[in-house]
Amino acid sequence: MEYLYGLLFGTEPKQSDADASHTLRTKLEALPGDRDAQITLTAAEIRILKEATTTTRQKHGGGDELFVRMHSNLTEDLDPSTADAVVDAYGASPLKPNPLAKRRPSPETPQLRKACKNAVADLISERQLASSVPKERRKTLEAALSEVNAWGFDVWSVVDAFQGDTLLASRAIVDAVVFEARGFRAASASPILRQVVSKMLASYQDVPYHNCLHGADVLQAMHALLNLAPTFDDALDDDVVLVTLLACLSHDVGHPGLTNNFLVETGHELAIRYNDASPLENMHAAVALNLAKPYLRTRPSTDQKQNRALWIGLLLATDMKEHSQQIFELERALSKAKERGTSYEACTPEHHVPCLKIFIHACDISNPAKPWPVYRRWTALVMEEFWRQAELERERGLPLTVPARDATDLAQFQKGFIAFIRPLFAAADRIGGVDMSLPLERLDDTARRWQSGSPRAEAYDPPVATEPPPVSFQTLTEPVALGDDDVRE
Ligand SMILES: [Zn+2]
Repeated sequence: MEYLYGLLFGTEPKQSDADASHTLRTKLEALPGDRDAQITLTAAEIRILKEATTTTRQKHGGGDELFVRMHSNLTEDLDPSTADAVVDAYGASPLKPNPLAKRRPSPETPQLRKACKNAVADLISERQLASSVPKERRKTLEAALSEVNAWGFDVWSVVDAFQGDTLLASRAIVDAVVFEARGFRAASASPILRQVVSKMLASYQDVPYHNCLHGADVLQAMHALLNLAPTFDDALDDDVVLVTLLACLSHDVGHPGLTNNFLVETGHELAIRYNDASPLENMHAAVALNLAKPYLRTRPSTDQKQNRALWIGLLLATDMKEHSQQIFELERALSKAKERGTSYEACTPEHHVPCLKIFIHACDISNPAKPWPVYRRWTALVMEEFWRQAELERERGLPLTVPARDATDLAQFQKGFIAFIRPLFAAADRIGGVDMSLPLERLDDTARRWQSGSPRAEAYDPPVATEPPPVSFQTLTEPVALGDDDVRE
């Protein structure tokens, strides 16, 4: 696992920098929206922030004011040399409130704040990944990532190795799949690709289930499913495989932790923008492709169009509303082939996209098709997200469209879900060159455990990651940014 320790990320930084990056990110994420909000930073955090804001300033033509504003409430324990460095770099004293920050309104501030947060996320992800894992946990991480090619890979052991930091864990999983196992490290557009990956991970919201870890998990599941279908995998162009993996990674980007139903029922801005038609999936596709522009531009123009079409098609195929139609169409294609005395083969070029759509949808709903310990942690999180939505529905006097915290028969709910999704895996298993026997085996095992009636308490285990903030309806529109500002080039 040498890629974790230097090859990709340069010289391994000191542990203290990694700690500072982590605490800095936590503080930035907790920073209120109002422009007079102040936070207190340590000297090490300032060093990291300074580097991040310098990058931001170069790329966005701003950032100084934000930096100064953040430092207008620095503690006196700031060492004099750091204070001097701040003054040198920004021409303002960090020890006093900065008059500039108060004097003129800055409409740019939210964008800059976001850009700065992203820059910090980049720094952490790209340069300090290695040192973010305490030495004693590295062996655990190595062991966990060595299973990254397998169906049933334990994402949680990676999260645990990063002590609950899902952003770092997601980045490690994506790197292990995309740049190591799939070998896209050598791609000519690799630095741009890395930046696009960072932006996608950073553009997920901090909701219980539909966060960046779910994106990374679906990417890994797709990689594993293609490994189970080697002839199909070999038949796909590298470009198609890469776009498919990136589509998996980005398929829920910006997800507010609420369902399409809820958005439509409440007349949410997203429902209005997309005329009630798959508002989430349309938003994910628009945001993802905007973030992906720098990468897509590195491709020849004909590929760009194809890649965009594939990406959009794959993301729209993740709408649960398409589930039954997908199974129906696949069953029909399988029957037609049988009538002709042939089989429906994944390797046939015109079947590539339909099969990839089946695959991404299967991966998206594959939690019960994973080993029980992996599945139950996902289940706790998805239920938490549903329960929060049910609370919002109750508050608004809407009919409940998801299970409520105080009225969930988890066994019943999960058994129903498994019965609903199993036909997709079973139909996909009949595609020539596709092997769904392992996911089906797991799915049946999960169903059997619920049947026995014992696992209820286990599935309610709280998530290991720190509790995310409650979903606030008012904040949901903010991350759906579609402007060019959100893309670094
Ligand atoms: Zn999803």
